[in-house]
Amino acid sequence: MKIFSKDFYRQKKEELLADETKWKLFQNACIFAVVGFTSLVMSIVNIFTHQGSFTWVTLAFSIACAINLLLIRKKGKAAILSIILFSIEMILILIYFIVSGIPDGFSVLWTAMLPCFGLLMFGVKNGTLASLVMFAIIAFFYWIPYGQSLLQYPYSPTFKMRFPLLYLAFFAVAVMLEKIREASKSALTESRRKYEFLCYHDALTGLYNRFWLQSVIDNPEQYHLKPAAVAVLDIDNFKFINDNFGHPSGDIVIKDIGQAIVDTLNGSGDVCRWGGDEFLIIFHTDIDAEMVCKRIVDNVCAHRFVFDKENFNTTVSVGLVLAPNGGTDDIGKLIHQADINLYHAKDYGKNCTINSELKP
Ligand code: GH3
Ligand code: MG
Repeated sequence: MKIFSKDFYRQKKEELLADETKWKLFQNACIFAVVGFTSLVMSIVNIFTHQGSFTWVTLAFSIACAINLLLIRKKGKAAILSIILFSIEMILILIYFIVSGIPDGFSVLWTAMLPCFGLLMFGVKNGTLASLVMFAIIAFFYWIPYGQSLLQYPYSPTFKMRFPLLYLAFFAVAVMLEKIREASKSALTESRRKYEFLCYHDALTGLYNRFWLQSVIDNPEQYHLKPAAVAVLDIDNFKFINDNFGHPSGDIVIKDIGQAIVDTLNGSGDVCRWGGDEFLIIFHTDIDAEMVCKRIVDNVCAHRFVFDKENFNTTVSVGLVLAPNGGTDDIGKLIHQADINLYHAKDYGKNCTINSELKP
């Protein structure tokens, strides 16, 4: 895929959205970049408007943001350090803005941006805490006589009285927006979870479906283990059940047999409903797959179904194939061989397992 192409960006965005930690880091990196870039632009403006030491402060802050960006790219502890450093740097520069008031009492207005960044970076609870700390600092300098005596710029009494209130209004709007963002994000995460479940699970049995199997075949590296064996199971004479007891009863049989397979496997493999009355198992441990398959055949045969006051049982046939030592990545080959073995099991008289090693 071409770098900088539309597909490249779409795929990157999907990867980020799927991983909460990566997304948070990306979000924080964007904040560092925006704040750092703004500070750099303001430094250039300050150079042209001859703001003296103020220029060095804004320039130093933009360099600090660039360092934070490099740190956050390293992830882990370096990323946490970058967030701590950014918080300290932000509070220090805003205090400098309040006290110095350069130019013409303007720079204090930047403090109104803090609630927006704080809430985005730390969430509603900790972001509120950070915003209120900043409010306490502003109130200290504008409303407390000792704080006022430290100010180097002669703010008007009206400004000093009103600006903290304006800051609170910005804070309230930021909380509201963050709450809306969080609610939309959790609704989106929930629908994504539901969508992924529906995409990879069979509606009747709740087992994995054919799409899941296809994704395992297409991306074997994403599957957690090399499959040690694959079994394909087919319900014997299932049409007879459908024809005699009706489709809904047939559904119950499929569901119950799926559950019997899961119970017998007891976590030693993944089960997928492969087709109408067919199931597929990928064994992912070194357990005796042949013994488990025989147990499934016995358990299904022993299960009694009762429909229309008629009591009956049904059976399954199994085609099993064992992977060479240490498992294999080629699930497609295993499935093909297991399917051939299933046909042999049907020919052999059904209600049995036919087993073989994967042929090279
Ligand atoms: P065999 O022993 O050779 O497997 O014979 P069979 O009668 O089981 O034949 P086959 O496996 O080919 O039949 C599968 C049937 O399963 C055909 C189809 O009508 C039925 N079927 C497929 N999906 C569903 C479903 O979701 N619910 C029900 N009730 N029946 C289904
Ligand atoms: Mg069948």
